[in-house]
Amino acid sequence: MSLGLGHGARRASRILLLLFVAGLSSVGAAGAQESDAQETGAAWAIAIHGGAGTARRETMDAERERAYRDKLTEALLAGKKVLESGGSSVDAVEAAIRLLEDSPLFNAGKGAVFTHDGKNELDSSIMDGATLEAGAVAGVHHVKNPISLARRVMEDSPHVLFAGQGAEEFALEQGIELVPESYFWTERAWRSLQSRLEAEQRADAGADGAEANGANADVPSSRYFGTVGAVALDTQGNLAAGTSTGGMTNKQFGRIGDSPIIGAGTYADNRACAVSATGHGEFFIRNAVAYDICARVRYLGSSIDEAADVLVMEVLVELEAGGGVIALDPAGNAAMPFNTSAMLRGYLRAGGEPEVAIFKD
Ligand code: ASP
Repeated sequence: MSLGLGHGARRASRILLLLFVAGLSSVGAAGAQESDAQETGAAWAIAIHGGAGTARRETMDAERERAYRDKLTEALLAGKKVLESGGSSVDAVEAAIRLLEDSPLFNAGKGAVFTHDGKNELDSSIMDGATLEAGAVAGVHHVKNPISLARRVMEDSPHVLFAGQGAEEFALEQGIELVPESYFWTERAWRSLQSRLEAEQRADAGADGAEANGANADVPSSRYFGTVGAVALDTQGNLAAGTSTGGMTNKQFGRIGDSPIIGAGTYADNRACAVSATGHGEFFIRNAVAYDICARVRYLGSSIDEAADVLVMEVLVELEAGGGVIALDPAGNAAMPFNTSAMLRGYLRAGGEPEVAIFKD
């Protein structure tokens, strides 16, 4: 398991984890890998993220940091409640994400960022690693908890992805809670849009070309902060993953990012891993990031740490694409690499205490 520690520390924590697993083992002589996978069959684990970005410890005030940490802990405990009582990984992922969606602190649900036109367009997806079934919604304006609608798409429709008005009609049909658009207004997200628009105006006036951020221009990764995601392993050995976001501040023309795209922002397969991503979505789509991590685990036999590192610290870094992932393997080991200065994240497994981190500590 890794909360984004250095390789040495990560290896050490992996060893501790194996010792913990071996301690539970009645078959002491099995190889490390084997006992890791077998002996956690009855255990559970959950990892969550609250987005990656350029926040720095020096500039984050203590109150805000405390609020993030408390909410992440609460989300881990919501997942624990489900998993400890034998609930499914899909239930745990939904419960953890709903809690984060209801908080104004994150760019998902209540705290979703604004589009160029001053609207909130929410995207979400969920995947069941036992069946490879998946559901997703994109560009919804009135759905309080998009993750729950994504789940309905997975379970109550023969389709995978519903967008815009159709998704909202489906929500109505399913009795999913709808809210007026004003529900999503938060001062923080609004101010962030205003500063983007002002920067655009300055760029148009030629005053500050570097700040231009039209559809194709590079954007600072501080924009990404706040997307939420969860991956979980239940006591049946089933993995699940989910992601929810308001996308990127100032996004235009019905832009959809990676979060509702299965294989890009979300993927789960019991044979390999569960992944939820956050960052500059276009790059995650082009590189099928979530799927590629699982494919590396499945076909190359890579560990979850190795597979996630290749994508986040090599492939994306080479493309100058900011972001990170949380990934869980079938034994409950987590990898949480990110190539930005911060990623809100947390991990909890059976018998453990919630671990929450923000910076590279
Ligand atoms: N990946 C999201 C998107 O591109 C943004 C984020 O993770 O913050 O829409």
